[in-house]
Amino acid sequence: MDIRNIFKNNKKWAQEQLNKNPNFFTSLSEHQHPNYLWIGCSDSRVQTSQIMNLPPGEVFVHRNIANIVALTDFNCLAAIEYAVDVLKVEHIIVCGHYGCGGVKAAMDSNTPGGVEAAIASNAAGYVGNWLSNIIDIIKFNEDKLKNLNEEERYNKVCELNVLEQVKHVSDTTIVQNAWKKNANLTIHGWIYSLDDGILHDLRIDKNTI
Ligand SMILES: [Zn+2]
Repeated sequence: MDIRNIFKNNKKWAQEQLNKNPNFFTSLSEHQHPNYLWIGCSDSRVQTSQIMNLPPGEVFVHRNIANIVALTDFNCLAAIEYAVDVLKVEHIIVCGHYGCGGVKAAMDSNTPGGVEAAIASNAAGYVGNWLSNIIDIIKFNEDKLKNLNEEERYNKVCELNVLEQVKHVSDTTIVQNAWKKNANLTIHGWIYSLDDGILHDLRIDKNTI
């Protein structure tokens, strides 16, 4: 897509919304009351509102490479805090996706002299350092992964990454405090399939984590 077409497309889109509902933008600009916080991957193929078929205003979004919730990441924690304390969302969805490039890069680098050596020598860059979060998950779950073929292993690490990030969300003081106050707040772990556009609930609950 040529960048010069983006403004033209935007005007066309805005007009289409007005044709459907003349108050579309005036009602949206007054407030937002999303009931969902979506923590997903930055991958351009995983478009949050589109895949849930939700209009603007329904979902508060935080995305980063490989949908990681790092307890040292102020950006992600601020999004969770705002969503829980101010917007009062009732659902936090951590959604990974099969075929995640971030997960694959972490798996490929989980070899002697791989990203760990690169991080130690300060050569991994920001992405390499960021993905070290996933390398720990691979190491910790080696028992569950060792008998799988390459494709199954890739899919499983994508799922385990979601599980781990759901744990991290649940462990935040933000969520813990909300639960202490009996807030109606549920954390979900989902995974999206690029192959067919279908979302799957990994059915993560308190017993799983
Ligand atoms: Zn991804």
